[in-house]
Amino acid sequence: MPAAIKKLRFAFILYWVLLAYILAALVWWFIALNRQNNQMTRLKKQEAITQTKPGSPALSQIEEENKRKKAQYIGEGSIFFLLIVAGAVFVFRTVRSQLRQSQQQQHFMMALTHELKTPIAVAKLNLETLQKRKLDDSQRERLLQTALQETNRLNSLCNNMLLSSQIEAGGYRTTFEETNFSELVQNCVTDFHNRFPQRLLKMNIPENHFVMGDRLLLQLAINNLIDNALKYAPKESPISIQLREEGASLYVAVKDEGKGIPDTEKKHIFEKFYRIGNAATKAAKGTGLGLYLTRKILDQHNANISVTDNQPSGAIFIISIPALHEKN
Ligand code: ADP
Repeated sequence: MPAAIKKLRFAFILYWVLLAYILAALVWWFIALNRQNNQMTRLKKQEAITQTKPGSPALSQIEEENKRKKAQYIGEGSIFFLLIVAGAVFVFRTVRSQLRQSQQQQHFMMALTHELKTPIAVAKLNLETLQKRKLDDSQRERLLQTALQETNRLNSLCNNMLLSSQIEAGGYRTTFEETNFSELVQNCVTDFHNRFPQRLLKMNIPENHFVMGDRLLLQLAINNLIDNALKYAPKESPISIQLREEGASLYVAVKDEGKGIPDTEKKHIFEKFYRIGNAATKAAKGTGLGLYLTRKILDQHNANISVTDNQPSGAIFIISIPALHEKN
């Protein structure tokens, strides 16, 4: 959008010119007033020396008044200066963050278009092939499997998008209920195992650990982590999902053996629409919503998420959530 960028550049130039003009005017105002003050002092001193006016103040008094006025101008000028600079910094920061957000939103829209079109195109093509051609059982099975995988991806993308807008608008009603967290995590892993039978998913999930939470949201948070581990690690590498209780919390760790996440990116990946910008990871499909939504969900459950490095390579995402007492 060259026209919009031109307009924006013009607005920025105008902003800096106006700011410079206001500050210069302020300095000039101080110089002029001070000069006037000095002139007045000089005149008053002359009058006092020549005694042209009866009852003229003493020289020391005149000097005192000059100093007082100077201090007054400096005080008023400094307050003006600080107010203008504080206002300018505030406006600049606000506009800059809005710009960044709209840029990220643009990237998101591009990624989203791609994310929506691909599964629809794949599912459509597979169904058309099934309709037009006589295929053997294994071919039919393969086409159905990929169509199903793509529609599942579409489904989780829609869920992520709908929920994040609902949570942000305050439109989603969380239902907190006693939830068997062990079962919930197991179900998520089993579901991924059925969808991606060729991937190696190891789980170590002791039974009957409970939390208070919204099942749908917690499921979505866990699914996002497993989905990322599968997406960003090589197909032949294993993914491990573990649950353990420590103190008053339950910990779920999702480990992969992919490239991992550089330290400088670790704090950014939970931001809305953020995706790490190297070619290898961008080749993987995504919108930058998953981890943002996961963190939002966990915030609502007084839970935390952190990310560390796996050894020798890969990422470990760890969720900690307050535990309910174990049920037997
Ligand atoms: P998406 O996967 O849709 O891009 P996410 O919010 O889930 O969005 O993730 C944000 C970014 O964090 C991803 O684009 C990716 O660069 C990085 N990331 C997330 N999980 C992993 C992981 N397990 N290994 C490496 N990078 C990851």
